[in-house]
Amino acid sequence: MAVKVNEYYSLIQNNYLFVEIARRVDEYQKENPDANLIKMGIGDVTRPLAKSVVEAFKRAVDELGDADTFRGYGPEQGYDFLIEDVIENDYKPLGVELKNSEVFISDGAKCDTGNFQELFSKDNIIAVTDPVYPVYVDSNVMAGRSGKMGEDGFYENIVYLPATSENDFVPSLPSEKVDIIYLCYPNNPTGTTLTKEQLKEWVDYAHKNDALILFDAAYESFIKTPGIPHSIFEIEGAKDVAVEFRSYSKVAGFTGTRCAYCVVPEEVYVKDANGNKVQLNPLWNRRQSTKFNGVSYPVQRAAQAIYTPEGKKEIQENLDYYVKNAQVIRESLEKMGLKVYGGVDSPYIWFKTPNIDSWSFFDILLKEAHVVSTPGAGFGPSGEGYLRLTAFNTYENTVEAMDRISKLEF
Ligand code: PLP
Repeated sequence: MAVKVNEYYSLIQNNYLFVEIARRVDEYQKENPDANLIKMGIGDVTRPLAKSVVEAFKRAVDELGDADTFRGYGPEQGYDFLIEDVIENDYKPLGVELKNSEVFISDGAKCDTGNFQELFSKDNIIAVTDPVYPVYVDSNVMAGRSGKMGEDGFYENIVYLPATSENDFVPSLPSEKVDIIYLCYPNNPTGTTLTKEQLKEWVDYAHKNDALILFDAAYESFIKTPGIPHSIFEIEGAKDVAVEFRSYSKVAGFTGTRCAYCVVPEEVYVKDANGNKVQLNPLWNRRQSTKFNGVSYPVQRAAQAIYTPEGKKEIQENLDYYVKNAQVIRESLEKMGLKVYGGVDSPYIWFKTPNIDSWSFFDILLKEAHVVSTPGAGFGPSGEGYLRLTAFNTYENTVEAMDRISKLEF
Protein backbone atom coordinates (compact mmCIF):
# COMPACT_ATOMS: atom_id res chain seq x y z
CA MET A 1 0.00 0.00 0.00
CA ALA A 2 1.41 3.38 -1.02
CA VAL A 3 -0.85 5.40 1.23
CA LYS A 4 1.13 7.60 3.56
CA VAL A 5 -0.10 8.17 7.07
CA ASN A 6 -0.43 11.57 8.77
CA GLU A 7 2.93 11.41 10.57
CA TYR A 8 1.78 13.88 13.18
CA TYR A 9 -0.43 11.21 14.74
CA SER A 10 2.74 9.40 15.82
CA LEU A 11 3.69 12.44 17.92
CA ILE A 12 0.74 11.92 20.23
CA GLN A 13 2.47 10.72 23.32
CA ASN A 14 0.01 8.91 25.46
CA ASN A 15 -3.12 7.03 24.80
CA TYR A 16 -6.00 9.39 25.31
CA LEU A 17 -6.05 9.74 29.10
CA PHE A 18 -9.43 8.13 29.62
CA VAL A 19 -8.49 5.19 27.42
CA GLU A 20 -5.53 4.48 29.71
CA ILE A 21 -7.71 4.79 32.81
CA ALA A 22 -10.27 2.41 31.29
CA ARG A 23 -7.48 -0.04 30.49
CA ARG A 24 -6.24 -0.07 34.11
CA VAL A 25 -9.78 -0.32 35.47
CA ASP A 26 -10.70 -3.20 33.12
CA GLU A 27 -7.55 -5.08 34.02
CA TYR A 28 -8.23 -4.68 37.74
CA GLN A 29 -11.91 -5.59 37.39
CA LYS A 30 -11.03 -8.75 35.42
CA GLU A 31 -8.64 -9.87 38.15
CA ASN A 32 -11.12 -8.86 40.88
CA PRO A 33 -14.59 -9.48 39.49
CA ASP A 34 -16.24 -8.96 42.91
CA ALA A 35 -14.75 -5.52 43.50
CA ASN A 36 -17.56 -2.94 43.57
CA LEU A 37 -15.85 -0.06 41.81
CA ILE A 38 -17.21 3.47 42.19
CA LYS A 39 -16.38 5.60 39.16
CA MET A 40 -15.48 9.19 39.90
CA GLY A 41 -12.99 9.56 37.07
CA ILE A 42 -14.39 10.51 33.69
CA GLY A 43 -16.73 13.50 33.69
CA ASP A 44 -19.83 11.62 32.64
CA VAL A 45 -23.17 12.38 34.25
CA THR A 46 -25.53 9.90 35.92
CA ARG A 47 -28.86 11.77 36.31
CA PRO A 48 -31.36 10.88 33.58
CA LEU A 49 -32.63 13.45 31.07
CA ALA A 50 -35.18 15.87 32.53
CA LYS A 51 -38.86 15.05 31.95
CA SER A 52 -39.50 18.07 29.72
CA VAL A 53 -36.46 17.17 27.64
CA VAL A 54 -37.68 13.59 27.12
CA GLU A 55 -41.18 14.80 26.19
CA ALA A 56 -39.85 17.30 23.63
CA PHE A 57 -37.53 14.62 22.26
CA LYS A 58 -40.45 12.17 21.79
CA ARG A 59 -42.73 14.80 20.28
CA ALA A 60 -40.05 15.64 17.72
CA VAL A 61 -39.55 11.97 16.86
CA ASP A 62 -43.31 11.67 16.27
CA GLU A 63 -43.13 14.67 13.94
CA LEU A 64 -40.48 12.86 11.91
CA GLY A 65 -42.73 9.83 11.68
CA ASP A 66 -45.57 11.80 10.11
CA ALA A 67 -45.50 12.77 6.41
CA ASP A 68 -47.02 16.19 7.20
CA THR A 69 -44.35 17.17 9.71
CA PHE A 70 -41.38 15.16 8.48
CA ARG A 71 -38.06 17.02 8.13
CA GLY A 72 -34.91 15.95 6.34
CA TYR A 73 -31.57 17.79 6.46
CA GLY A 74 -31.70 20.79 8.73
CA PRO A 75 -29.48 23.87 8.59
CA GLU A 76 -25.82 22.94 9.21
CA GLN A 77 -25.63 25.81 11.71
CA GLY A 78 -28.63 24.64 13.73
CA TYR A 79 -32.33 25.51 13.77
CA ASP A 80 -33.27 29.11 14.54
CA PHE A 81 -35.67 27.98 17.28
CA LEU A 82 -32.72 26.74 19.36
CA ILE A 83 -30.32 29.53 18.37
CA GLU A 84 -32.90 32.14 19.40
CA ASP A 85 -33.40 30.48 22.79
CA VAL A 86 -29.64 30.34 23.33
CA ILE A 87 -29.35 34.06 22.67
CA GLU A 88 -32.39 34.97 24.79
CA ASN A 89 -31.58 32.74 27.77
CA ASP A 90 -27.82 32.23 27.86
CA TYR A 91 -26.57 35.64 26.68
CA LYS A 92 -29.23 38.41 26.95
CA PRO A 93 -29.39 38.15 30.76
CA LEU A 94 -25.61 38.71 30.83
CA GLY A 95 -25.99 41.87 28.74
CA VAL A 96 -24.48 40.16 25.69
CA GLU A 97 -26.24 40.79 22.36
CA LEU A 98 -25.69 38.21 19.62
CA LYS A 99 -27.00 37.65 16.11
CA ASN A 100 -28.36 34.28 15.01
CA SER A 101 -25.50 33.99 12.52
CA GLU A 102 -22.99 34.09 15.38
CA VAL A 103 -24.27 30.90 17.08
CA PHE A 104 -23.46 27.47 15.63
CA ILE A 105 -25.25 24.43 17.09
CA SER A 106 -23.10 21.31 17.08
CA ASP A 107 -22.88 17.76 18.39
CA GLY A 108 -20.36 18.55 21.10
CA ALA A 109 -17.85 20.93 22.58
CA LYS A 110 -15.25 18.21 22.15
CA CYS A 111 -15.73 18.29 18.36
CA ASP A 112 -15.89 22.09 18.30
CA THR A 113 -12.79 22.67 20.42
CA GLY A 114 -10.98 19.91 18.53
CA ASN A 115 -12.04 21.09 15.07
CA PHE A 116 -11.68 24.83 15.47
CA GLN A 117 -7.90 24.81 15.12
CA GLU A 118 -8.16 23.74 11.48
CA LEU A 119 -9.14 27.31 10.54
CA PHE A 120 -5.63 28.46 11.39
CA SER A 121 -2.29 28.17 9.66
CA LYS A 122 0.15 25.57 10.96
CA ASP A 123 2.69 28.13 12.11
CA ASN A 124 0.51 29.76 14.74
CA ILE A 125 1.82 29.43 18.29
CA ILE A 126 -0.78 28.06 20.64
CA ALA A 127 -0.83 28.41 24.40
CA VAL A 128 -2.62 26.18 26.87
CA THR A 129 -2.95 26.28 30.60
CA ASP A 130 -1.27 23.35 32.29
CA PRO A 131 -2.96 21.07 33.44
CA VAL A 132 -5.32 21.10 30.47
CA TYR A 133 -8.29 19.31 28.85
CA PRO A 134 -6.25 17.03 26.51
CA VAL A 135 -8.35 17.68 23.39
CA TYR A 136 -6.86 21.17 22.86
CA VAL A 137 -3.32 19.81 22.78
CA ASP A 138 -3.91 16.55 20.92
CA SER A 139 -5.94 18.18 18.13
CA ASN A 140 -3.05 20.60 17.53
CA VAL A 141 -0.54 17.74 17.61
CA MET A 142 -2.55 15.93 14.93
CA ALA A 143 -2.54 19.12 12.83
CA GLY A 144 1.24 19.40 13.01
CA ARG A 145 1.35 22.50 15.17
CA SER A 146 3.08 21.08 18.25
CA GLY A 147 6.49 19.72 17.26
CA LYS A 148 7.80 16.79 19.29
CA MET A 149 7.29 16.15 22.96
CA GLY A 150 10.44 16.63 25.02
CA GLU A 151 11.65 14.53 27.97
CA ASP A 152 9.97 17.07 30.24
CA GLY A 153 6.52 16.18 28.88
CA PHE A 154 6.08 19.47 26.99
CA TYR A 155 5.62 19.72 23.21
CA GLU A 156 8.37 21.92 21.82
CA ASN A 157 6.13 24.40 19.95
CA ILE A 158 3.31 24.72 22.48
CA VAL A 159 3.43 27.36 25.20
CA TYR A 160 2.33 25.98 28.56
CA LEU A 161 0.98 28.27 31.25
CA PRO A 162 1.16 26.49 34.61
CA ALA A 163 -1.81 26.67 36.95
CA THR A 164 -0.87 25.20 40.31
CA SER A 165 -1.36 25.90 44.00
CA GLU A 166 1.77 28.14 43.77
CA ASN A 167 -0.11 30.70 41.66
CA ASP A 168 -3.52 29.91 43.13
CA PHE A 169 -4.48 28.34 39.79
CA VAL A 170 -4.35 31.71 38.04
CA PRO A 171 -1.98 31.18 35.10
CA SER A 172 0.35 34.04 34.21
CA LEU A 173 0.07 35.73 30.84
CA PRO A 174 2.55 34.30 28.30
CA SER A 175 5.96 35.94 28.45
CA GLU A 176 6.40 35.41 24.69
CA LYS A 177 3.99 36.32 21.91
CA VAL A 178 1.40 33.62 21.25
CA ASP A 179 -1.36 33.57 18.65
CA ILE A 180 -4.10 31.32 20.00
CA ILE A 181 -4.89 30.79 23.67
CA TYR A 182 -7.15 28.04 24.98
CA LEU A 183 -8.88 28.97 28.23
CA CYS A 184 -11.42 26.82 30.06
CA TYR A 185 -13.40 28.30 32.96
CA PRO A 186 -14.73 26.88 35.22
CA ASN A 187 -11.64 24.84 34.60
CA ASN A 188 -11.37 21.21 33.75
CA PRO A 189 -9.53 19.62 35.52
CA THR A 190 -8.83 21.97 38.45
CA GLY A 191 -12.41 23.13 39.08
CA THR A 192 -11.16 26.70 39.62
CA THR A 193 -12.58 29.92 38.15
CA LEU A 194 -11.33 33.36 37.12
CA THR A 195 -12.80 36.66 38.24
CA LYS A 196 -13.87 39.28 35.72
CA GLU A 197 -10.70 41.27 36.44
CA GLN A 198 -8.50 38.22 35.85
CA LEU A 199 -10.28 37.32 32.63
CA LYS A 200 -10.00 40.93 31.46
CA GLU A 201 -6.21 40.63 31.59
CA TRP A 202 -6.46 37.87 28.98
CA VAL A 203 -8.75 39.90 26.76
CA ASP A 204 -6.34 42.85 27.05
CA TYR A 205 -3.41 40.56 26.22
CA ALA A 206 -5.26 39.32 23.13
CA HIS A 207 -5.88 42.92 21.98
CA LYS A 208 -2.27 43.94 22.53
CA ASN A 209 -0.82 40.87 20.83
CA ASP A 210 -3.32 40.26 18.03
CA ALA A 211 -4.16 36.93 19.64
CA LEU A 212 -7.35 34.90 19.68
CA ILE A 213 -8.87 33.31 22.80
CA LEU A 214 -10.74 30.03 22.41
CA PHE A 215 -12.86 30.06 25.55
CA ASP A 216 -14.40 26.78 26.69
CA ALA A 217 -17.33 27.39 29.04
CA ALA A 218 -18.61 23.79 29.11
CA TYR A 219 -19.08 24.03 32.90
CA GLU A 220 -20.65 27.49 33.02
CA SER A 221 -23.89 26.20 34.57
CA PHE A 222 -22.05 25.23 37.77
CA ILE A 223 -21.11 28.83 38.59
CA LYS A 224 -22.99 30.09 41.64
CA THR A 225 -20.51 32.54 43.17
CA PRO A 226 -21.70 36.07 42.33
CA GLY A 227 -19.37 38.06 40.08
CA ILE A 228 -17.71 35.07 38.39
CA PRO A 229 -18.14 35.57 34.62
CA HIS A 230 -20.39 33.03 32.88
CA SER A 231 -19.20 34.07 29.45
CA ILE A 232 -16.02 35.70 28.15
CA PHE A 233 -18.30 38.11 26.27
CA GLU A 234 -19.18 39.73 29.60
CA ILE A 235 -15.69 41.23 29.41
CA GLU A 236 -15.42 44.51 27.53
CA GLY A 237 -13.69 44.08 24.18
CA ALA A 238 -13.91 40.26 24.17
CA LYS A 239 -16.13 40.10 21.10
CA ASP A 240 -13.19 41.16 18.91
CA VAL A 241 -10.81 38.54 20.21
CA ALA A 242 -12.71 35.48 21.46
CA VAL A 243 -14.76 32.48 20.44
CA GLU A 244 -16.82 30.68 23.09
CA PHE A 245 -17.78 27.02 23.36
CA ARG A 246 -20.68 25.71 25.41
CA SER A 247 -22.27 22.31 25.82
CA TYR A 248 -25.53 20.74 26.98
CA SER A 249 -23.58 17.70 28.20
CA LYS A 250 -23.16 18.64 31.83
CA VAL A 251 -25.95 21.19 32.31
CA ALA A 252 -28.67 18.86 30.99
CA GLY A 253 -27.17 15.36 30.92
CA PHE A 254 -26.59 15.38 27.14
CA THR A 255 -23.30 13.45 27.24
CA GLY A 256 -24.94 10.65 25.27
CA THR A 257 -27.58 12.75 23.50
CA ARG A 258 -24.99 15.16 22.03
CA CYS A 259 -25.69 18.85 21.63
CA ALA A 260 -23.53 21.93 22.10
CA TYR A 261 -22.85 25.25 20.45
CA CYS A 262 -20.14 27.73 19.75
CA VAL A 263 -20.30 31.48 19.39
CA VAL A 264 -18.12 33.14 16.74
CA PRO A 265 -18.73 36.92 16.86
CA GLU A 266 -18.70 38.77 13.57
CA GLU A 267 -16.16 41.21 15.04
CA VAL A 268 -13.35 38.62 15.08
CA TYR A 269 -10.81 38.96 12.26
CA VAL A 270 -7.63 37.00 11.63
CA LYS A 271 -5.00 37.63 8.94
CA ASP A 272 -4.10 35.99 5.63
CA ALA A 273 -0.51 35.41 4.47
CA ASN A 274 -0.38 38.97 3.07
CA GLY A 275 -1.57 40.54 6.28
CA ASN A 276 -5.09 41.22 5.01
CA LYS A 277 -7.97 40.91 7.46
CA VAL A 278 -10.14 37.78 7.18
CA GLN A 279 -13.39 37.48 9.10
CA LEU A 280 -13.49 34.33 11.23
CA ASN A 281 -17.25 33.76 11.36
CA PRO A 282 -17.68 32.92 7.62
CA LEU A 283 -14.67 30.59 7.83
CA TRP A 284 -16.29 28.53 10.59
CA ASN A 285 -19.56 28.65 8.68
CA ARG A 286 -17.73 27.32 5.61
CA ARG A 287 -16.08 24.57 7.65
CA GLN A 288 -19.34 23.46 9.22
CA SER A 289 -21.28 23.61 5.94
CA THR A 290 -18.69 21.44 4.24
CA LYS A 291 -17.99 18.89 6.95
CA PHE A 292 -21.09 18.79 9.15
CA ASN A 293 -24.74 18.19 8.44
CA GLY A 294 -26.22 19.55 11.64
CA VAL A 295 -27.52 18.05 14.85
CA SER A 296 -30.64 15.91 14.52
CA TYR A 297 -33.98 17.69 14.79
CA PRO A 298 -35.23 15.76 17.87
CA VAL A 299 -31.98 16.47 19.74
CA GLN A 300 -32.28 20.20 19.06
CA ARG A 301 -35.92 20.14 20.22
CA ALA A 302 -34.79 18.25 23.34
CA ALA A 303 -32.12 20.89 24.00
CA GLN A 304 -34.67 23.66 23.50
CA ALA A 305 -36.83 22.17 26.26
CA ILE A 306 -34.29 23.14 28.92
CA TYR A 307 -35.20 26.79 28.31
CA THR A 308 -38.86 26.30 29.25
CA PRO A 309 -39.81 27.24 32.83
CA GLU A 310 -40.39 23.56 33.69
CA GLY A 311 -37.16 22.48 31.97
CA LYS A 312 -35.15 25.15 33.81
CA LYS A 313 -36.49 23.92 37.13
CA GLU A 314 -35.76 20.29 36.35
CA ILE A 315 -32.19 20.80 35.18
CA GLN A 316 -31.51 22.99 38.21
CA GLU A 317 -32.54 20.08 40.44
CA ASN A 318 -29.97 17.87 38.70
CA LEU A 319 -27.28 20.54 39.01
CA ASP A 320 -28.06 20.95 42.72
CA TYR A 321 -27.73 17.20 43.14
CA TYR A 322 -24.18 17.27 41.73
CA VAL A 323 -23.30 20.36 43.74
CA LYS A 324 -24.26 18.48 46.92
CA ASN A 325 -21.95 15.61 45.88
CA ALA A 326 -19.13 18.08 45.25
CA GLN A 327 -19.58 19.42 48.75
CA VAL A 328 -19.42 15.91 50.24
CA ILE A 329 -16.16 15.24 48.36
CA ARG A 330 -14.59 18.56 49.31
CA GLU A 331 -15.47 18.28 52.97
CA SER A 332 -14.31 14.66 53.28
CA LEU A 333 -10.95 15.36 51.64
CA GLU A 334 -10.43 18.45 53.78
CA LYS A 335 -11.21 16.42 56.90
CA MET A 336 -8.44 14.04 55.84
CA GLY A 337 -6.09 17.02 55.90
CA LEU A 338 -5.66 17.19 52.12
CA LYS A 339 -5.35 20.45 50.16
CA VAL A 340 -8.51 20.71 48.08
CA TYR A 341 -9.38 23.03 45.17
CA GLY A 342 -12.44 23.49 42.94
CA GLY A 343 -15.77 21.83 43.66
CA VAL A 344 -17.53 25.12 44.44
CA ASP A 345 -18.41 26.51 41.00
CA SER A 346 -17.54 23.25 39.32
CA PRO A 347 -18.28 19.52 39.44
CA TYR A 348 -14.53 18.82 39.65
CA ILE A 349 -12.55 18.52 42.83
CA TRP A 350 -8.80 18.77 42.46
CA PHE A 351 -6.57 17.86 45.37
CA LYS A 352 -2.93 17.36 46.26
CA THR A 353 -1.90 13.75 46.68
CA PRO A 354 -0.15 12.95 49.96
CA ASN A 355 3.47 13.13 48.66
CA ILE A 356 3.03 10.47 46.04
CA ASP A 357 2.87 10.73 42.26
CA SER A 358 -0.59 10.94 40.79
CA TRP A 359 -0.69 7.64 38.82
CA SER A 360 0.51 5.77 41.97
CA PHE A 361 -2.21 7.43 44.04
CA PHE A 362 -4.72 6.61 41.30
CA ASP A 363 -3.68 2.93 41.66
CA ILE A 364 -3.99 3.07 45.48
CA LEU A 365 -7.53 4.46 45.26
CA LEU A 366 -8.42 1.86 42.63
CA LYS A 367 -6.98 -1.13 44.44
CA GLU A 368 -7.55 -0.22 48.07
CA ALA A 369 -10.73 1.87 48.00
CA HIS A 370 -12.17 0.61 44.70
CA VAL A 371 -12.65 4.20 43.62
CA VAL A 372 -11.78 5.33 40.09
CA SER A 373 -10.29 8.82 39.95
CA THR A 374 -8.29 10.73 37.33
CA PRO A 375 -4.55 11.25 37.86
CA GLY A 376 -3.58 14.90 37.51
CA ALA A 377 -0.44 14.03 35.50
CA GLY A 378 -2.71 12.86 32.68
CA PHE A 379 -3.71 16.49 32.12
CA GLY A 380 -0.14 17.78 31.71
CA PRO A 381 3.13 18.09 33.61
CA SER A 382 1.75 20.62 36.12
CA GLY A 383 -0.97 18.14 37.07
CA GLU A 384 1.62 15.84 38.62
CA GLY A 385 1.00 15.44 42.34
CA TYR A 386 -2.73 16.10 42.02
CA LEU A 387 -5.82 13.96 41.52
CA ARG A 388 -9.29 14.81 40.18
CA LEU A 389 -12.58 13.47 41.50
CA THR A 390 -15.92 14.25 39.88
CA ALA A 391 -19.28 14.94 41.49
CA PHE A 392 -21.23 13.12 38.77
CA ASN A 393 -21.89 9.83 40.55
CA THR A 394 -24.96 9.16 42.69
CA TYR A 395 -25.13 10.71 46.16
CA GLU A 396 -25.03 7.27 47.76
CA ASN A 397 -21.95 6.21 45.80
CA THR A 398 -20.24 9.51 46.52
CA VAL A 399 -20.76 9.11 50.26
CA GLU A 400 -19.62 5.48 50.09
CA ALA A 401 -16.51 6.37 48.05
CA MET A 402 -15.48 9.10 50.45
CA ASP A 403 -16.04 6.77 53.39
CA ARG A 404 -13.74 4.20 51.78
CA ILE A 405 -11.05 6.78 50.96
CA SER A 406 -11.12 8.23 54.48
CA LYS A 407 -10.34 4.78 55.93
CA LEU A 408 -7.13 4.51 53.90
CA GLU A 409 -3.81 5.01 55.65
CA PHE A 410 -1.50 7.34 53.79
N1 PLP B 1 -14.77 20.82 27.10
C1 PLP B 1 -14.37 20.43 28.31
C2 PLP B 1 -13.49 21.29 29.11
C3 PLP B 1 -14.79 19.19 28.81
O1 PLP B 1 -14.38 18.79 30.01
C4 PLP B 1 -15.64 18.37 28.03
C5 PLP B 1 -16.09 17.06 28.50
O2 PLP B 1 -15.70 16.48 29.46
C6 PLP B 1 -15.99 18.82 26.79
C7 PLP B 1 -15.56 20.05 26.34
C8 PLP B 1 -16.80 17.96 25.90
O3 PLP B 1 -18.10 18.36 25.83
P1 PLP B 1 -19.14 17.63 24.86
O4 PLP B 1 -19.72 16.48 25.63
O5 PLP B 1 -20.11 18.70 24.53
O6 PLP B 1 -18.39 17.16 23.66
